[in-house]
Amino acid sequence: MNKGSLDPPELNKDLSEPVSVPDSAMDRAVEIMRSGRLFRYGEFKGGSSEVAALEREFADYMACRYAVAMNSCGSTMFVALKCAGVQPGDKVLVNAFTLAPVPGAIEHAGAQAVFVQCRDACRVDLEDLEHKARAGAKAFLMSHMRGHIADMDVVTDICGRHGVVLIEDCAHTMGAKWDGRPSGSFGAMACFSLQTFKHVNAGEGGILITDDEDMAAQAILYSGSYMLYAQNGTAPAEQVFERHKYMTPNFSMRMQELTAALARPQIAMLDDRAAHWRERYDLLAGLFSEIPRVEIPQRPDKEEFVPSSIQFSLTGLEATVIDEVLEACGNRGVDIKWFGRPTPAGFTSTWEHWNYVGESQPLPETARMIAALCDMRIPLELTVQECHLIADILGDAVRQLGRKFQ
Ligand SMILES: *Cc1c(COP(=O)(O)O)cnc(C)c1O
Repeated sequence: MNKGSLDPPELNKDLSEPVSVPDSAMDRAVEIMRSGRLFRYGEFKGGSSEVAALEREFADYMACRYAVAMNSCGSTMFVALKCAGVQPGDKVLVNAFTLAPVPGAIEHAGAQAVFVQCRDACRVDLEDLEHKARAGAKAFLMSHMRGHIADMDVVTDICGRHGVVLIEDCAHTMGAKWDGRPSGSFGAMACFSLQTFKHVNAGEGGILITDDEDMAAQAILYSGSYMLYAQNGTAPAEQVFERHKYMTPNFSMRMQELTAALARPQIAMLDDRAAHWRERYDLLAGLFSEIPRVEIPQRPDKEEFVPSSIQFSLTGLEATVIDEVLEACGNRGVDIKWFGRPTPAGFTSTWEHWNYVGESQPLPETARMIAALCDMRIPLELTVQECHLIADILGDAVRQLGRKFQ
């Protein structure tokens, strides 16, 4: 039976494939394990910490003064809110369309999440931001969700005029820029993730950056430095710690040495990875945009993004049809996520599922955007040929099912 030749071709690539860890990182990790020194702080006789080296290297990469490594981006967001002076009950603005750890960090700080609408291309709606900042909020925890960067000139202007502390969630924008300036350099603080599916894969991990010495000292103390805070790779001067050291609880959110060993060589690889991802994205975006009903979000010229995923809307299709289109893609090996799915699956919960924040907030623009929004991960190793096959598979599924339901 020559069955294979009649079947439409399938993608033989796992789209969830992470970036691999470089050999030099593994060698260093093994060395550290042999030494047994897995904890970043110690009453060392000589020797220096791997985490401290990562902090120095990341601060250099971002051209900022301070970097504080922790155990996750979620931890850095929580600590950033504390450093911004957020008190229980304070309002914190946050994109309505973001990942669950972001409102989670706000809840962790005891604050009240106020969702800002998102519309085209996942970006925050600037009019709604103006409106909600004017009504009063302590901070804006801004997600550059799926790597889409809103107009940062307008965002910083709004936050500045209303006295709202801007904290950037750069989990999807490591290495990205807005108008030539690094994403993460616009807010008082910025938070990065080293989780497996982000741009640098250390399994878990987060880095908070800032140029503010008081915020840096507090972040180091909150993260769990004990009185060994001077061992941070970019620690501010002793007198800055004097202002905070007996007033700042230890939340025990440190990064361990192995994490830093895995991450360090990858920081140096970021720009090459970014260029490669961008090439694949541009190819996929071009191919997808030729498929009927598939709409690729416009990207402003000022946005230099690092796309480890691609977003598109399936327009003018009923929810049941979207479901079938994506199922047809899945049957041929192309796994596409749909944020509009009524019950959350995998990573795709939305604000409608975060009932712990209290009274539900009406967000019609966001609901409209999310209803049609699909998302596909772009593994770094995806080949040109595989990009063409993926576009063929999506195109077949839309054409066949779109026709059936007309
Ligand atoms: C992954 C992610 C985070 C949280 O990162 P962790 O390191 O997993 O805590 C925050 N924001 C966004 C948008 C993310 O995708």
